[in-house]
Amino acid sequence: MSSSLISASIRILLLASLIVTISCQNKGLKVITVTGEIPASKMGVTLPHEHVLVDFAMIDSIVPNHYNKDSVITRVLPYFEELKPFKVTTFVDCTPEFLGRDPQLLAELSRKTGIYILTNTGWYAADNERHLPKEIKDMSPEQIAAVWIDEAKNGIGNTGIKPGFIKIGINNIELSETDKKLVAAACLTHLETGLTIMSHTGLADAAMAQLTILKKYGVDPSAFIWTHAMVETSNKKLLTIAQMGAWVSIDGIQKDLTAQLRISGLLQFMKSTRQLNRVLLSHDAGWYQPGKPNGGEFRPYTELFTSLTLVLMSEGFTREELDQMIIKNPAEAFGVRVRKIAK
Ligand SMILES: [Zn+2]
Repeated sequence: MSSSLISASIRILLLASLIVTISCQNKGLKVITVTGEIPASKMGVTLPHEHVLVDFAMIDSIVPNHYNKDSVITRVLPYFEELKPFKVTTFVDCTPEFLGRDPQLLAELSRKTGIYILTNTGWYAADNERHLPKEIKDMSPEQIAAVWIDEAKNGIGNTGIKPGFIKIGINNIELSETDKKLVAAACLTHLETGLTIMSHTGLADAAMAQLTILKKYGVDPSAFIWTHAMVETSNKKLLTIAQMGAWVSIDGIQKDLTAQLRISGLLQFMKSTRQLNRVLLSHDAGWYQPGKPNGGEFRPYTELFTSLTLVLMSEGFTREELDQMIIKNPAEAFGVRVRKIAK
């Protein structure tokens, strides 16, 4: 065999092994739910941004949970049952610590309904930093990350329940020192655990400021979920961030037709620019509010299936495109693995 033939054969072999490696990586991805690990391929139809309970009255860690878990379950259960006809298999609960995160409540709800639920580690600086532990002022990103990594490795408190992603929240386009610390801590936690970073953000410029910090730590944008991206009015900025590889979370689906048409317009744009593979869809709905009679008003988790899907199909979206957004993308987004910027 001539040397050029040999080197061509080696190249083919290398290419084949690369393809096998890539497909194995995808097949092997796992997701961490409140009842244990599952293969990402089992997530099925997923709601990637919802809430079971949020306690905005909870200002710091010294305020105890002032609700009865059984009452919350009784109130929330019918809304979970409503998801069954739409084959929703996985529900991502985005309530962070100091805002009412309750892993045991979620685990019980998951066992009662058979729906997989993910909870999170991380802290939320949005809402004017009212939901942060006081110690944060004196903590370095490394010290904050150590707390989150400990939850990821050993479970939250003594529950034995592990977080399935990192949830942070920032305040403004101009990141505060605290905002920057949280993003840096999220990067360090990601590099150690492979958990995806979800950040309550809003405008594209604020997402971009965070992606700049990710870059400094060598974390790939595909490890970042830009939450509440639908508030951005510049399609150009949406496209830039999607093309960088970050997840664009359009998580404001609601009954209101004007809001639905706005979302469908955004999705048409993402489709026309071939970016549907970066989109996540959810309602940011729920939730039980401790202190209010029977948990207060509760927004259901079904508008995506009962109305938005119909709007999208009438505009020419195919079943395959919808499945890309509600099945494939969440498995890819939440599949645990370290995502470093390729050198
Ligand atoms: Zn939310």
